[in-house]
Amino acid sequence: MAFPAMGNEGDEQVRVRFGRAIRRDLASELERLGSRQAMILSTPQQSDLAFEASEVLGPLAAGVFSKATMHTPINVTEDALEHLRASRADCLVALGGGSTIGLGKALAYRTDLPQITVPTTYAGSEATPILGQTEDGVKTTLSDPRVLPEVILYDPELVATLPVGMTVTSGLNAMAHAAEALYAENRTKETTNLAIEGLQALAEGLPKVVDAPGDLDAREMTQRGAWACGTVLGRVGMALHHKLCHTLGGSFDLPHAETHAIILPHAIAYNARAAARELEAITDVLGGKSAGQSLFGFAKTLGAPLALRDLGVSETDLDRAADLATRKPYPNPRPVTQNDIRALLQAAWAGDAPAS
Ligand code: NAD
Repeated sequence: MAFPAMGNEGDEQVRVRFGRAIRRDLASELERLGSRQAMILSTPQQSDLAFEASEVLGPLAAGVFSKATMHTPINVTEDALEHLRASRADCLVALGGGSTIGLGKALAYRTDLPQITVPTTYAGSEATPILGQTEDGVKTTLSDPRVLPEVILYDPELVATLPVGMTVTSGLNAMAHAAEALYAENRTKETTNLAIEGLQALAEGLPKVVDAPGDLDAREMTQRGAWACGTVLGRVGMALHHKLCHTLGGSFDLPHAETHAIILPHAIAYNARAAARELEAITDVLGGKSAGQSLFGFAKTLGAPLALRDLGVSETDLDRAADLATRKPYPNPRPVTQNDIRALLQAAWAGDAPAS
């Protein structure tokens, strides 16, 4: 599989469309799905967007629920489910980043309603059948075909409003999916090619959108990259990098995209020798001699956060983080030991470049 052709059509399971103002095509997408009315979802911060969609849909809108929250807490899902059941909605429209898309997936998991997603970040959740949910502070993840959205509308005008800092961290979050897909145990030629396409699109597009956030052609390029990276995330298993980010995010309440941005060069450097051939794709795309250092240099040039200490992690937390991250490790090219992970975390905490 390669990128969906300009403007249209994804793979056999998901309809993927790209284009300026394409969010205004919601009515025709609803009709195509055979749905009569849609419940529109957003975070409180993006409720304007949800109300704009409601206006565009007119009588096809069944209401707006704008309380989507990071990590998909079950109590918010239950609240949304009540609104949904009290409405005539037979379709879900999620307008936002991974948090809003997560809520749509949680509702689809419980109701099997079709989902139209309109992503406004690069996190890539819209392209996966994976749902993470939080109950009593514990996050669990499942994979289910009901969770995979039916339609994705990538509108570059929507990511153009993403502040530059979030653009960079969210873009690096997407690149992390592709980087780990390169050495995934269950990778195929197809997933590797798609991961490389995703890395190339983001490596080319991100510097352009940092220079000119309103450059819609470059924004569309980054969205194509995010789609490719999200798609491989849904198709292959992730390893050390994702394990570290889940552990740090969950146990220390760290912001999702920033944590990914900081950890990525270090996790990739950790695996550099064990997956040397697979990781050549990263130096092919970004230049340089070592994948971890190339990613570190790329992140630094873009002005990404580089140090866990800047996210409020204290040095005394690192022992516990290393302990948690090495319990039940994901399969990883290089064996995961507590000492080595502690050293990795020290460098990531201080914001040092990876040693190799
Ligand atoms: P997010 O959805 O939490 O958004 C962060 C904040 O930015 C929110 O306040 C949001 O309203 C705002 N925002 C989003 N887009 C904006 C825009 N264009 N302009 C201005 N503000 C905007 O952030 P995220 O990083 O996209 O998502 C993180 C969540 O997604 C996490 O819970 C993560 O676990 C989940 N996720 C899940 C998967 C999966 O496959 N299940 C994949 C990636 C991420």
